Amino acid sequence: MNEILSPKNDFIRQIIADDVAQNKHQGRVVTRFPPEPNGYLHIGHAKSICLNFGIANENDGGVCHLRFDDTNPTKEELEYVESIKRDVRWLGFDWGEHLHYASDYFEKLYRYAVHLIKGGKAYVCSLPPDKIREYRGTLTEPGKDSPYRDRRVEENLDLFDRMKGGEFEDGAHVLRAKINMASPNISMRDPVIYRILKRPHHRTGDQWCIYPMYDFTHCLSDSIEGITHSLCTLEFQDNRAVYDWVLDQLPVDCHPQQIEFARLNLSNTVMSKRMLLKLVEEGLVEGWDDPRMPTLSGLRRRGYTPKSIRNFCERIGLAKKNSQVDMALLEHCIREDLNESAIRVMGVLRPLKVIIDNYPEDQVEDLEFQNHPGDAAMGTRMVPFSRVLYVERDDFREEAPKKFFRLAPGREVRLRYAYYITCVGMEKDEKTGEITALHCTYDPETKGGSSPDGRKVKGTIHWVSAAHALEAEVRLYDHLMLTPDEDQKEQPDFIDLLNKDSLETLTSCRVEPGLRDAVPGSRVQFERLGYFCVDPVDSSPGKPVFNRTVSLRDTWAKIEKAQKSKKAR
Ligand code: ATP
Ligand code: MG
Repeated sequence: MNEILSPKNDFIRQIIADDVAQNKHQGRVVTRFPPEPNGYLHIGHAKSICLNFGIANENDGGVCHLRFDDTNPTKEELEYVESIKRDVRWLGFDWGEHLHYASDYFEKLYRYAVHLIKGGKAYVCSLPPDKIREYRGTLTEPGKDSPYRDRRVEENLDLFDRMKGGEFEDGAHVLRAKINMASPNISMRDPVIYRILKRPHHRTGDQWCIYPMYDFTHCLSDSIEGITHSLCTLEFQDNRAVYDWVLDQLPVDCHPQQIEFARLNLSNTVMSKRMLLKLVEEGLVEGWDDPRMPTLSGLRRRGYTPKSIRNFCERIGLAKKNSQVDMALLEHCIREDLNESAIRVMGVLRPLKVIIDNYPEDQVEDLEFQNHPGDAAMGTRMVPFSRVLYVERDDFREEAPKKFFRLAPGREVRLRYAYYITCVGMEKDEKTGEITALHCTYDPETKGGSSPDGRKVKGTIHWVSAAHALEAEVRLYDHLMLTPDEDQKEQPDFIDLLNKDSLETLTSCRVEPGLRDAVPGSRVQFERLGYFCVDPVDSSPGKPVFNRTVSLRDTWAKIEKAQKSKKAR
């Protein structure tokens, strides 16, 4: 049922299949996932991970490297490296022996830079950063040559060596590729390839104070590792010219092919690491693993399974044009997985006491419940039933509207897998008028939830036995962002668009007693309420905290239906 729906024949897989058929790169397929360790991975990264590792797995002898693009010591930390490794493994992928760091290549990259200088293909530029920007020109105007562009090779070598030696302050000089300041492609206008940064690096310590830039590092790291296909998102389209230029100038054995695809944009959330970091730093969420975050650690804590995320990445497919995916599709994928695998239990979020007047005071019945209605192999369990129960406050109305089929004065409903009950009275708080308890009668003939006389009831509600139930905290989540579009990208005030009601914490919920020992991270369906995950951080023995992964209402199914009927018209 949970099979992958779309066949894997996107444009990238076609290119690779053709290359393999023509024995290009001796028929090998080597891909890589190259995160910068400056934040936690998010669902967008999952798309890239599933693509790169997926393609490697689908091809005989294919491999995918995990490479940290760690060239900016000001933003990178070991914590991020560890979290990224954990998340890739959790998603179900394995880099085997191929764990690499761009920082492992610093020495080689330095020698390549010297090679460029010697060939007159790079120069030390001493313009201040704002001038470099100004000289770069615009989309409509060509750039201007830097006055340092024609420095002699010896002078460049000397300056670059002294940059490396720590003689100059940050920003005093940079090394630039000598390409073409008049190129219509701004990326080709003498890009900076090295800068001075007097910061210790989390792996190389104080060894370096010059660091290579993305455009220089990425293509050469790919080449050093023998990558055959370098898959990246569309914003690197213009950088491809630099990628190829650098490799063409240098004596390298391997020239990988860069292919761009559309990044994942998702509704009602943010995915830029800069914005996610801001949410974390300003305490607007609990941390990178806050269940509202689109990070893999947040989704994991929320209750998402690796399988559901892989399925999602499969379904969204691969395109050459950016678009946005509705969050409802991601929710649909986790629902589909948990529908099959999660056991059904009962819990009451906002308890309302029900006293069954005609039920014997000291009696307790253990009722047998199926763990999963569609899968007998998942077994059964016993759930206690007694005279005083809790039901959901929402499941009672003093004045019931027409189509309200749950409890109301005089109304008979089914208690799930237990008995029919009829509401015969209410207790109210004298001061506030709030209903504090319901009085009901039960029909002993309806045990198991059906009536031998064929009498039907329209409503079935869930319940727990008051004396036996476990008190628990439950957290309900809504979208992180109010705006459906991910246009907040350039908005510095995206904070204003945060959904202030994205978290609702309920502290006096009651759940089945058997959940006392629920394993942190495990997942259940609370009947009628949704799928929930036992919070791995805040739960303690005997005191589970439940995070709602997703409700039962499938808005994606509706969207899909609407799309289909629109197409049919
Ligand atoms: P930043 O926001 O700091 O630029 P990034 O999101 O590009 O970071 P990287 O660590 O550079 O993050 O990303 C690693 C890889 O994941 C890159 O190859 C990048 O193209 C890919 N990636 C990042 N975001 C998405 C996304 N939304 N959809 C698909 N792939 C993505
Ligand atoms: Mg990036």
